[in-house]
Amino acid sequence: MKKRALITGITGQDGSYLSELLLKKNYQVHGLIRRVAAEDKTHRLWRLKHLLNDIKLHPASLESYASIVQIIQKIKPQEIYHLGAQSYIDYAFKDEFSTLNTNINGTHYLLSAIKEFSPKTKFYFAASSEMYGKVLEIPQNEKTPFYPRSTYGISKVAGFDLTRNYREAYGLFCCSGILFNHESPRRGFEFVTRKITHAVARIKFGLQKDLKLGNMDAKRDWGHAEDYVKAMWMMLNKRNPEDFVISTGKQYSVRDFAKLAFKAVDLDYRKYVKIDKKLERPADVQTLLGSCSKAKKILKWKPKYSFQGLVDDMVRADLEFVEKYGY
Ligand code: GDP
Repeated sequence: MKKRALITGITGQDGSYLSELLLKKNYQVHGLIRRVAAEDKTHRLWRLKHLLNDIKLHPASLESYASIVQIIQKIKPQEIYHLGAQSYIDYAFKDEFSTLNTNINGTHYLLSAIKEFSPKTKFYFAASSEMYGKVLEIPQNEKTPFYPRSTYGISKVAGFDLTRNYREAYGLFCCSGILFNHESPRRGFEFVTRKITHAVARIKFGLQKDLKLGNMDAKRDWGHAEDYVKAMWMMLNKRNPEDFVISTGKQYSVRDFAKLAFKAVDLDYRKYVKIDKKLERPADVQTLLGSCSKAKKILKWKPKYSFQGLVDDMVRADLEFVEKYGY
């Protein structure tokens, strides 16, 4: 019998890479998708196009406890990867209520449904380095206190605490991966890395003249999503549930990213990047740097991509994208 995994947020960047990984490991892969995604297939399922014959998608809502219970009872998954969330920070500032409600309730519903109806199911929660926000320690590790700076970060702290509490109070196998920023050619266009690499390709093809960015001094610990989904699987396939920081341990600024991305096509970023104050956030996270020594030691996890490798992969893919689609 194949192992069954249920992924929330399967249409996102991590969901698609995780599906590929689990299919390779011979899992039956199920995904929870919003009804709108089921209706607007070509657009919302673009990251899963090549997998649609091999996975099963179930329309349901993270905002409805009843629909989550139904799906868990139907699939009885051995593993649940809860990646689904409103995850774009600028949007979190624009709609704080829905970011908090959907993200916190969705996690709580899943945990509660597992406890009531499928207590052997292992649960992975996608926590985030945004929980460290205005960092209280450098680098950040599993013991660093949180100081979130957006409702997104606050909702992830709540999800993290809920996950730990269900583990401690009810003995469920549930754990959180505190993943630092992870990018790839499948990253959404609203995130700064993809915005840059897409603009680089468009500028190279003469479709765009310049690129507007906000805070270029913000520093992140950027890894490749393909490496990071492996850590999720490793966490659910060890003996005991524990929380882990997943990061590269190296930090670069938005400026560094732009510099390398433009350089990859022999352009000088200084000629094209314009600062737009409107793109700066009410409260930005200035610096994030993760210490992943626990994951290296216990999970034996190690990222394959370097920072240069990540930038190159994204620029290469966006050159192909713009050439193919013309936008
Ligand atoms: P985040 O770490 O989840 O917020 O990922 P983002 O890719 O959205 O943002 C990373 C950093 O880039 C933040 O500190 C932003 O303020 C900064 N940044 C600078 N210019 C931009 C921009 O034009 N768009 C976005 N999304 N971020 C920008």
